Amino acid sequence: MPPTLEAPVALLAGEGLPDYAAITPEQVTAHMPGLLAELDQQLNHLEASLTAALEAGDPLSWPQVMGPLQRLGERLRWSWGVVSHLNGVCNGPELRTAHAGQQAAVVAFGSRVGQSRVLYRALESLQASDSLDGTQQRILAAERRDMELRGVGLDGDAQAAFNATTQELADLTTRFGNQLLDATNSWSLLLTEAAEVEGLPESLRGQLAQAARQAGHPEASAATGPWLLGLDMPRYAPFLKYSQRRDLRERLYKAHVSRASGEEGGNGPLIERILTLRREQAQRLGYAHWADVSLAAKMAGSVEEVEQLLEDLRAAAHPVAVQELAELRACAAQAGAPEAEQLRAWDVSFWAEVRRQEAFALDSEALRPWFPLPRVLDGLFGLCNRLFGIRISAADGTAPVWHPDVRYFRVDDAGSGEPIAAFYLDPYSRPGSKRGGAWMDECLVRSVADDGQPVLPVAYLICNQSPPVGDIPSLMTFEEVETLFHEFGHGLQHMLTTVERPQAAGINNVEWDAVELPSQFMENWCYDRATLLGMARHWQSGEPLAEAEFAKLQAARTFMTGAATLRQVHLALTDLRLHSQWSPEGGRSPEALRRELAATTTVIAPIPEDALLCSFGHIFAGGYAAGYYSYKWAEVLSADAFSAFEDVGLDNEDAIQATGRRFRATVLGLGGSRHPAEVFEAFRGRQPSPEALIRHSGLVPAA
Ligand SMILES: [Zn+2]
Repeated sequence: MPPTLEAPVALLAGEGLPDYAAITPEQVTAHMPGLLAELDQQLNHLEASLTAALEAGDPLSWPQVMGPLQRLGERLRWSWGVVSHLNGVCNGPELRTAHAGQQAAVVAFGSRVGQSRVLYRALESLQASDSLDGTQQRILAAERRDMELRGVGLDGDAQAAFNATTQELADLTTRFGNQLLDATNSWSLLLTEAAEVEGLPESLRGQLAQAARQAGHPEASAATGPWLLGLDMPRYAPFLKYSQRRDLRERLYKAHVSRASGEEGGNGPLIERILTLRREQAQRLGYAHWADVSLAAKMAGSVEEVEQLLEDLRAAAHPVAVQELAELRACAAQAGAPEAEQLRAWDVSFWAEVRRQEAFALDSEALRPWFPLPRVLDGLFGLCNRLFGIRISAADGTAPVWHPDVRYFRVDDAGSGEPIAAFYLDPYSRPGSKRGGAWMDECLVRSVADDGQPVLPVAYLICNQSPPVGDIPSLMTFEEVETLFHEFGHGLQHMLTTVERPQAAGINNVEWDAVELPSQFMENWCYDRATLLGMARHWQSGEPLAEAEFAKLQAARTFMTGAATLRQVHLALTDLRLHSQWSPEGGRSPEALRRELAATTTVIAPIPEDALLCSFGHIFAGGYAAGYYSYKWAEVLSADAFSAFEDVGLDNEDAIQATGRRFRATVLGLGGSRHPAEVFEAFRGRQPSPEALIRHSGLVPAA
């Protein structure tokens, strides 16, 4: 029995900034079930009242349906959001166990809401009323579509079959991912001779020696070995790039491209089954194929539209990739390498690295002293002030934090001085307790509280760069600077939203293939001369970065982009065709379809061992099925948006500011309240074009 005078539970506060220190793993285990039970009961009440209204034929109002639904969702989002956040940034065995213990129940509650027939009928009836504005219409349309894609509209047997197939697909995709992981981990090669690690940088030798120690060779050292090679990216990619042993590169490459393709535990049989089941699911939902299901919730309007973009990129990239290969061949010939006659797939990374060193030896480690975090933040905040008319200032100590390194900032409108938003920045890596990578997440979403007061958005910005050491600030690589700008772009869309309905504020309700627009847009500014040279200063001497180094950064941006673009097109097109054109009755294996595409989307044909599909986890184990193209789609948008600034002249200050304010009012401000094509047109004055991306990628032959 609970004590009568219970202190409020921090996990259940449900509003305001969370009191991170007070939220414990014990609270998660003790109080999440109660919260879910309460929300379940509220949902029952809501369904009962909606059923009564629907049966009586009473017209339904927004506050009657969407009000309670939003409050329900927000209570769960607030509490579970902070648990997930802490699980990412303050991980530990207790919290991980507590999180894992509640996850299934949280997902089940989501499914219960998503498949509620009564709610669906209520949304339908609400949508028919004529008092809704465009944002409300879009929110309703998205809610209904998501419910439809979950099978809410199916009857009896059809729904049972749909749910059973959903379950089978979940099992198959999990198995696909596990088998891929097992195959990746099961291959290794122990190198014992110094000649076998010829050319490898010290750091890579260290990594391989460490892997050897973990595998039972306690004597392993970077200098004397043994060194253990494996198929994971951190070992695989740099080995292909630096190893002077062509025979070993070939062995490694062949092992990598044939992962999970064997008879035992191979992914081959899963591929046809997954594709077949997805096709059946699509047809149950009334679509021709899975690609149409995927596109129903995206910005791209049709398979043809995506095909057209991929063809534009392919046509631009192919001749450049051919040229790049010829240059690598010439480079190998000049070095007197016997393979120059016929470069194979396992030679490309190696010769590309040789050529890169020749053309512009860029040492990304050596640039760190020019990018101390405090200066980079000044540069970023200054840019945001200039472009968007906002003022960002430190507000440390005014908000609860989860770690002493975490900073807190406020964002005000530079003109009116009004507060707009705030954000947390958690910049440094904490191995063992913080997830790797970088991300932006929502702490609070812009909305209006029950008492009519505005709720200002608050963002989490999480990076993983090296912490300060003594008096030396955190010194960043250029890639880390780009990452910070990228995540800040997501943060800007979250924070500068002008939409007051939380379902469409910030990044909410933005189509998946458009959501990387603001983030990639911000990355472009790292290559803007004034922005970069204005911010890059040596942390001790204050000396600016040399022009020559800036030129190298720019050259590096377009190095080998023909091959890189073509690779993305090959993957995207393979994914799209498998989910639109392939069928089990077609008499052609998925692999055969992929090899046909390779004729025009690769410059070195796949070798017989190459079983790419067996390791294409994005589409068979992740959420990218018929969506891999999104990477390129969003890049088209972000490059084209940036080109609006190039068009007015990057040194034309008045025009840059006006264009920046327009970007704030449209792309950043409107979020998911309007269709992304409409938002883009409001900013750019026309529909997006791939021209800017092709130009930025250096895929246009010099005039
Ligand atoms: Zn992103």
